[in-house]
Amino acid sequence: MRASVDVAVALKPVFACFSFGLGACIASFLNVVIWRVPRGESIVSPPSHCPKCSAPIRWWQNIPILSWLALGGKCANCRAAISPRYILIELLGGVLFLAAFLHMLKFGLPLHFLVVYWIWIALMIVGSFIDFDHQLLPDFVTVGGMALGLVANAYDYFFFWGKIYWENYLLYCVGGLALGFGLLWLVRWLGSKAFKREAMGMGDVFLMGAVGALFGPVAVLFTLMTSAVAGSIVGIGMILLSKAKLGKFVAIPFGPYICLGCLAWMFCGPETVAWYLKLLGVN
Ligand SMILES: [Zn+2]
Repeated sequence: MRASVDVAVALKPVFACFSFGLGACIASFLNVVIWRVPRGESIVSPPSHCPKCSAPIRWWQNIPILSWLALGGKCANCRAAISPRYILIELLGGVLFLAAFLHMLKFGLPLHFLVVYWIWIALMIVGSFIDFDHQLLPDFVTVGGMALGLVANAYDYFFFWGKIYWENYLLYCVGGLALGFGLLWLVRWLGSKAFKREAMGMGDVFLMGAVGALFGPVAVLFTLMTSAVAGSIVGIGMILLSKAKLGKFVAIPFGPYICLGCLAWMFCGPETVAWYLKLLGVN
């Protein structure tokens, strides 16, 4: 493990470029998933085409980030505008994959941590944007995230360190899943009592279960707090901007905020908690 970290340091610029490129390419595919899956369309056929004139998109017109810039955000055939969201999602994928690589390097973490980060980042990108568009979270994101957490942590605690850590697995992974699922289920139940209608989908409950299965109980509490704060700021901002009545029920998708909170945990959560505990004089 030590040796692989040293190699990674020496080849850092190469791996950094690779990470960004891989993230952008995967995000380019995620753009297709985000558009097609909620519409019940196949993600492989028909091949990518302009939604306006149906002209097929050639491979050189489909290079992440670069093609969008080269074509000036327009279809090469009919010049119809292509949403800047495509390039933004590709940039987001590239930046987050790169950030995950640098994070692993900084803490000298093994390769399988990086792979789990990358898979989960990809799932969160898909889930967030589908939730924005359709107010739903696909099962392959939420249930897939829980399965990823259970399997990846099983590998980590049972095989990777050469000793079986049952207690840690139960406390950290299974306990995290139970806490995430249970807490959000409670929030959902209280919300439905308060608003006399469904205030939150089951998708959000499963999504927080996935956060717990992947990163443990402390991550659940951290993610719940940060996502509630971020969601409130955006919600209040939307109310002020639209001058909507405060008492009016506004359904805002919560999934993207859970993902935002989870990203904050992944990149600076434990440090933030440690800093906060020190501030309180608890150590
Ligand atoms: Zn076109």
